Amino acid sequence: MIRLLLVLAIFLTACTRAPEQAASFNAQIDTQLAAEIASIKAIDNHAHPVRPTAANEKPDNEYDALPVDSLEAQSDYVRGRPGSPLLLAAHRAIFQGDKVAAAKTYGQDYALKVLDQLNIETMLANRVALGPGLPSPRFLWVAFADALMYPLPTDSLVQNSDQKAFFALEAKLLTRYYTESGVAAKPATLDQYLDQVVRATLERHKKGGAVAEKFEMAYLRSLAIGNPAKSAAEKVYATGAGDYRALQDYIFRFIALECGRLGMAVHFHTGAGGGGYFSVGGSNPMLLEPLFNDPTLRKTNFVMLHGGWPFAHEETALLTKPNAYLDFSAQTFMNDPHDVAQNLRAWLEYVPEKVLFATDAYAYAPPDAGWEEVGYVANAGGREALARALTAMLRDHEITHERAGELARMVLRNNARKLYGLN
Ligand SMILES: [Zn+2]
Repeated sequence: MIRLLLVLAIFLTACTRAPEQAASFNAQIDTQLAAEIASIKAIDNHAHPVRPTAANEKPDNEYDALPVDSLEAQSDYVRGRPGSPLLLAAHRAIFQGDKVAAAKTYGQDYALKVLDQLNIETMLANRVALGPGLPSPRFLWVAFADALMYPLPTDSLVQNSDQKAFFALEAKLLTRYYTESGVAAKPATLDQYLDQVVRATLERHKKGGAVAEKFEMAYLRSLAIGNPAKSAAEKVYATGAGDYRALQDYIFRFIALECGRLGMAVHFHTGAGGGGYFSVGGSNPMLLEPLFNDPTLRKTNFVMLHGGWPFAHEETALLTKPNAYLDFSAQTFMNDPHDVAQNLRAWLEYVPEKVLFATDAYAYAPPDAGWEEVGYVANAGGREALARALTAMLRDHEITHERAGELARMVLRNNARKLYGLN
């Protein structure tokens, strides 16, 4: 039944297109391959599931360190606009459109039932804390690390109203990390801060089951991370004067090194982002190349989220770095599958072992565009894009049918299993 639903889900997009478009969709997808892809239990490398809460409980707000409900207006992309036929169809498909009844019926199992509907076995959950209702190993924790980079006041870093809200949220999260680390006030020296707050927090995350640390850096500053001298960072930490960027960069490198030691990957938001002030140029994944080329960081695995769109093409070349991976989250929701398929094809022809499926399921505008609907559309779109890319490679005689199936299993689950050491 689930398999049938998923084949239907894959073709849902076809059905909502005009008849001539639907015909070309079918011509571009090998149906046997599409069925095979629909049947694979996926590992979703990047998502923001919302924790099921009871009616008398405070609604969950830990699904992001920087919730996007307060951003400066932007011109919305077509697939995510209110009334988007894709979202409405997804809403009707999930629990037959009655999420309230499903929440009552399933209670703490609600989020698991959502995963079942998408044929997603494991979802990497970007959350401040995992919390009840999102049980491991179906949900694996990805914690947030940006806050640790800003031990000094951030007023001088704020460039617009969005960043004002973001930095306030990071300050709140840093306070939480201080408390959880048992540290009452800013330690006197940078070494003490790195040991008592930063390392302590990372070790706590690891102990709590985290498989990666996530950086939403692109919402706060550019991804150009320097390699400053320790003395420069120490001076800024102690005096509050000088180049704050040097201190941030030094702390980032400490975190990246620690993540390598602890066996946690480092996740970066790369490419386009939300809000009318977001710096697309500042989130170009090419800015990360010096990190990937740093011999001291070769034990740390980096994952470029969102396939770096619109820099997907450039990102292809970065896959040759031994510790660089990518997922195609968010573009599975925001971009049309025919577009995503072109990116995927280039990556699969180049270094297919480093390409990870992901949704970026996010509660943009519940109830119609909750994490469930966004996950549903992204899951269907991602699998369709994969089917399109592999069909094209098949028909150009680049790969056999057998290899196409193997590549599908790699992208949808085996690459992630290897990267995170999952069963
Ligand atoms: Zn995300």
